[in-house]
Amino acid sequence: MSEEKKEKSQAAQLKEKLFISKKNGCIKVSEEDIRKADEFCEEYKNFLNNGKTEREAVAYAVEAAKIAGFEEFDPYKQYGAGDRVYVNNRNKAVMLAVIGKNGTHNGVRLGIAHIDSPRLDLKPNPLYETNNLAMFKTHYYGGIKKYQWPTVPLALHGVVALKDGSSINVCIGDSEDDPCFCVTDLLPHLAVDQMSKTMTKAFNGEHLNVLIGSRPFNRDEESESVKLNIMNILFEKYGMLEEDFLSADLALVPSFRARDLGFDRSMIGAYGHDDKVCAYPALMAALDARIPESTVITVLTDREEIGSDGNTGMKSTYMIDFIADLAKIDGEEVRHVMAKSTCLSADVNAAFDPTYASEFEANNSSYINNGAVITKYTGSGGKYSTSDASAEYMARIRRILDDAGVLWQTGELGKVDGGGGGTIAKFVANLNADVVDLGVPVLSMHAPMEVVSKIDVYMTYRALYEFYMAENV
Ligand code: MN
Ligand code: MN
Repeated sequence: MSEEKKEKSQAAQLKEKLFISKKNGCIKVSEEDIRKADEFCEEYKNFLNNGKTEREAVAYAVEAAKIAGFEEFDPYKQYGAGDRVYVNNRNKAVMLAVIGKNGTHNGVRLGIAHIDSPRLDLKPNPLYETNNLAMFKTHYYGGIKKYQWPTVPLALHGVVALKDGSSINVCIGDSEDDPCFCVTDLLPHLAVDQMSKTMTKAFNGEHLNVLIGSRPFNRDEESESVKLNIMNILFEKYGMLEEDFLSADLALVPSFRARDLGFDRSMIGAYGHDDKVCAYPALMAALDARIPESTVITVLTDREEIGSDGNTGMKSTYMIDFIADLAKIDGEEVRHVMAKSTCLSADVNAAFDPTYASEFEANNSSYINNGAVITKYTGSGGKYSTSDASAEYMARIRRILDDAGVLWQTGELGKVDGGGGGTIAKFVANLNADVVDLGVPVLSMHAPMEVVSKIDVYMTYRALYEFYMAENV
């Protein structure tokens, strides 16, 4: 008996040495780390509640950066180690740089997350009345499952720009005292036909009409008086005319607030975790980076959910132009800086969902509570549309995270040929930098309420911070 027992423990020892640990991440981290994770996530929830759109997230980030000593970047000024600057790109994307001891001479460290999330944008001509109801026409933004959006309480967020150059900030529906809005759905009693359709046919883009009012102006019987009543409320509240919708960025987003999820409060349920759950850790890592070796640049970008096109997305030149400005100050050429630069593309991955286990490949999925997930490649099919981090770069990132005691895991996006997706990693790789995706595993990604683990959020912050402050990458 005792011989056998001894043999078994040898196998166990060898397993421990040779195998990847399958222990629950909650057991691997200290109680102190769990406490810190819970604490870190308190302000994260506040960021979520105040940053549902990219514009609101930029406002939050700029405010926090100014308090932490960041100044607006001046390309004609000289900067030294420890100086902190930011660039606000059209109030929809923002870059924060902390100048390193070596400036840009050994490349820069990039942490890039996106702050746009799937939502229902208003069409340019949104307002109409039908059958005595006032409605908004919407055009969805990003990859949504349309059936998830009816009957969810919605809030209207955004900006209306007026011809006189001024603009109106709109944020209505989040507060308990505000009214909210919603897309209606057909009652089950009459849904025989609807229920027999495939999901994409049962709910298409033109079904996503938002109910916004039902009473006529002055009890008037004239046509469109319900629409008139709404327009009159908007005129009185915001001074806007119907044609002002033509120059507006208005979106409907879920109105609920971020909340602890689970009896143990280990998770957070909220709208917009993708990708605020990486943007917030990246922002905090930027604020906490004091005097790094190489210049650290944190980018909170826009337009990722629709393919990164546009002047505030990662296909724009705004980031490389900023790096060129920093390089010029150091007497460097930007192409030489980029060749030596390294990047963590901070974006989410799909957490393994036991209810939909067959869509995942269990050995290569990321799991709630197992820490920051490194995604070597995204894309679809035969590794199309992805940059795929090199073995060497993966090894360097592993070393940094392990040396610092950061809890991390790897994951692919679902099983092979199960679908796919991408991040901004490939656009940065195309600039000739080393890049890999690192972020938080998310359940119900792109749904009105997404779920993440507090430990994973905190470990993503730690990963970004250690990457920023490492002597070399
Ligand atoms: Mn994302
Ligand atoms: Mn996404």
